[in-house]
Amino acid sequence: MESFYRNMRTKHNVLMDGSQPVTGKWNYDDDNRKKIPKNHVPSAPLVFKNDVSEVYDELILSGIKTIGNCQPKAFIWPVNRKQSLELLAYFIEDCLPLFGTFQDAMAPNQWSLYHARISFSMNTKMISPKEVVNAAIAAWEENPERIAYNQLEGFVRQIIGWREYMRGIYWNQMPAYQTKNFFDHQNKLPEWFWTGETKMNCLKDTINQSLDYGYAHHIQRLMITGNFALLAGIHPDEVDAWYLGIYIDAIEWVEITNTRGMSQFADGGIVATKPYVSSATYIDKMSHYCGTCYYSKAIKTGEKACPFNSLYWNFYDQHEALLAKNPRIGMMYAVWRKMAPADKTALLEQAQYYLNHINEL
Ligand SMILES: Cc1cc2nc3c(=O)[nH]c(=O)nc-3n(C[C@H](O)[C@H](O)[C@H](O)COP(=O)(O)OP(=O)(O)OC[C@H]3O[C@@H](n4cnc5c(N)ncnc54)[C@H](O)[C@@H]3O)c2cc1C
Ligand code: SF4
Repeated sequence: MESFYRNMRTKHNVLMDGSQPVTGKWNYDDDNRKKIPKNHVPSAPLVFKNDVSEVYDELILSGIKTIGNCQPKAFIWPVNRKQSLELLAYFIEDCLPLFGTFQDAMAPNQWSLYHARISFSMNTKMISPKEVVNAAIAAWEENPERIAYNQLEGFVRQIIGWREYMRGIYWNQMPAYQTKNFFDHQNKLPEWFWTGETKMNCLKDTINQSLDYGYAHHIQRLMITGNFALLAGIHPDEVDAWYLGIYIDAIEWVEITNTRGMSQFADGGIVATKPYVSSATYIDKMSHYCGTCYYSKAIKTGEKACPFNSLYWNFYDQHEALLAKNPRIGMMYAVWRKMAPADKTALLEQAQYYLNHINEL
C-alpha cells in the first residue's frame, strides 16, 4: 500500500514538490496514534436531525430485515450535498487538528472522537474524495500552526492511499475474492454480535454504538470486532454479512476488501502482510475499555481471563503451518515455542472453553 500511496501522491501531485514529498518525508505515522488521555473530552460530534420516516416506513412495509436502532425522525447522517459539506467543514475546523494523534484511540461512549464520518457521503457520491482532500490541504495551507502536517498527511493517506487501494483490489480480484477463506474458518458469529449483550466491554461498546449510529471507526472495526471474529474462527461469509448490514458506509467494494482482506486475512495476504490480531495488551494500550470490564486484561486462564488472551495464542497454534514462515510474525512463534508445555496446554484449553461457550461471553 505504501508504494501505491506514493504513486498516487506523485500522479495526482498531492503534497508534492516536483517528484519529492513537500516536507521531504512521505509518511508521518510515527507521530500519530496515541491513546486518549484519561480526562480528555473530545468535542461533541455534529449530527443532523433528518426526517426519513417516509423511506423508513417503506422499508418496514416491504418486510426488509433490519438491525440496529434507527431514529427515522432524527436521522443523524447527512442526506444531501449541503449537509455533507457542512460535515466536512465541521471536521476540518474541529477534528482535523487532532485527527492523526487520536486516529487509533478508543474510549467508552466516545463513538466518533476526531474521525471525519465522511465515508457515507463519499461512498454515495454526495461529495468527492478529491474535494475532501483538497479542502483539508487548503485548511492546512491557510493555517499550518492550527493543523500540523502530521495530522493532514495521516488523513490524506487514508483517502488517496487506503480508500483507492481497496477500490483497485476490488476491481482486480472480484468475483473470486468473495469466496476466499484462507484459514478455512467455519464458525458462526456469536448471537451477541446482533444485540451487543456481552460482558466483554470493548465488544459491548463497539457493537452497541454500531447498532445505535451505524458507525464505528477503523480501529474498532479492525481490532475489536474484526480481531474477535478472526480469533474465534468465524466463517468470512458471516463476518461479511455482518459488516455489510451494520455500517452506514457499507458498500461492497470497500466493505469486502476491508473485511475479508484486511480484517480476516481470508485472502491469504493480498491486502495485508499479516493478520491483524491482538491479545488484550494492544486493546488496553489504545483504549480505556479494560479498566471497567468484567474480564481482566492481565489474566490468561481462569474465570475472569480476558478471552482475547487465550484465543490469540490458540489462533497462532491452529495456523502454524500457514503462518510460521511469515517474516512479520515469526517472532510470535519463537515466543510460543519457548512457553512451558503446561502453560500452552492451559491456554489452549481456556480458548476451547471460550469457543464452546461463545454465546455466553
Ligand atoms: C472490517 C472493516 C470493514 C470496513 N468496512 C468499510 C465499509 O463498508 N465502507 C467504508 O467506507 N469503509 C470501511 N472500512 C474502512 C474504514 O473503517 C472506514 O472507511 C472509516 O471508519 C469511515 O469512517 P470515517 O469517515 O470517520 O473515517 P476517518 O477515520 O475519518 O478516515 C477518513 C477517510 O479515509 C478513508 N479510509 C480510511 N481507512 C480506510 C480503509 N481501510 N479503506 C477504505 N477507506 C478508508 C475513508 O473514506 C474515510 O472516510 C472498513 C474497515 C474495516 C477494518
Ligand atoms: S479485558 Fe479483554 S474483553 Fe475486557 S475490555 Fe479489555 S480486551 Fe476487551
